[in-house]
Amino acid sequence: MENNAKIVIKSLSLDDLQEKLHEFGQPSYRARQIADWLYTKRVNSFEEMTDLPRDLRAQLAKQFAFGKIDIVRVLGSRDTTRKFLFRLSDESLIETVLIPASPALYGDKSDRRTICISTQVGCAYGCKFCASGLEGFSRNLHANEIVDQIMAVERETGEKIDNIVFMGMGEPLANLDNLLRAIRIINGPWGLGLGARRITVSTSGLAPQIRKLADEPLQIRLAISLHGATDQVRDQIMPINRKYNIDMLLSACAYYTKHKKQRLTFEYILIADVNDAEDQAHLLARHARKLSAKVNLIPYNTVEGLPWSRPSRNRQEKFVAILHAERIPATLRREKGHDIDAACGQLRLQTKREEQLR
Ligand code: SAH
Ligand code: SF4
Repeated sequence: MENNAKIVIKSLSLDDLQEKLHEFGQPSYRARQIADWLYTKRVNSFEEMTDLPRDLRAQLAKQFAFGKIDIVRVLGSRDTTRKFLFRLSDESLIETVLIPASPALYGDKSDRRTICISTQVGCAYGCKFCASGLEGFSRNLHANEIVDQIMAVERETGEKIDNIVFMGMGEPLANLDNLLRAIRIINGPWGLGLGARRITVSTSGLAPQIRKLADEPLQIRLAISLHGATDQVRDQIMPINRKYNIDMLLSACAYYTKHKKQRLTFEYILIADVNDAEDQAHLLARHARKLSAKVNLIPYNTVEGLPWSRPSRNRQEKFVAILHAERIPATLRREKGHDIDAACGQLRLQTKREEQLR
């Protein structure tokens, strides 16, 4: 990322850093020293990197910048889902959600603090039920802006994050280069050092990019936002399905599972009278069985200005019971963040609307 023609230091991998330092005629161990200051000691200026020669610090400060990520609002408390609204250097607003320890939905074990991070400002995919898509797409996030969401939340809360889901605003696979760059920093032992199995990327179904991700050596987890078991249902709510229909999507998923050890997760938001019929549950079970995927059912979070609602608790239970009867591992989430608008894009939208009123 360029900032007044300076490169933002936290958008570089260790290899990139080493290359830059070679250009300065520096030994490569300097890159490790810098990474240690950035990701372990977490300083915010080159001046503080006291084991680097003074003239190198000055040279670095001339060429590299520290990106800006300011907290605008925090909603929620320590025991609940907390939601952070950030302002970036170009005034863009993005949001990040911290979910406290609870039975694990994505990782191996329970008792994890999970952070849900954004990868774009807005979203171009326009799913009919989603707040992030409502105002269209502004731009991709740079790698440092993705990593900084984690570091800023850890700084603010004083708590270490141990599980990451790319389920905030935006479509991660539409920003694949920056996503992979960020994941390398998050996963690198020289970076945040978080295991790849604790990182889950969610996609609305960009089939070609799913295949690209499968070809990457990283053992990250993949969640598919399915939300419909037939093209008829999916076409109604997810425009992406007209480009990559269910067959294309599921065959990309099969390619992914062939290359990775992890199970896939199907995300399925339950929306009343749209995708909650029994035949959808049976078909969903069939898709899940073929790929040995698990299913994560999420009662729909209402979005102001959108007509959709969640089915009754009874109907939700019925849907999950069908999956269980078909022996599909499935969970029905009790939406923790419902009270504070935890679904992606909602806090940003609300804040933007308030700012427009002012
Ligand atoms: N673009 C990616 C990742 C971000 S969306 C994707 O679509 O997978 C993360 C998840 O939140 C998706 O499963 C999305 O469908 C879901 N979501 C969006 N709006 C929601 C709402 N109002 N209630 C519940 N889940 C919602
Ligand atoms: Fe974009 Fe995902 Fe929301 Fe669809 S559900 S509009 S892909 S963020």
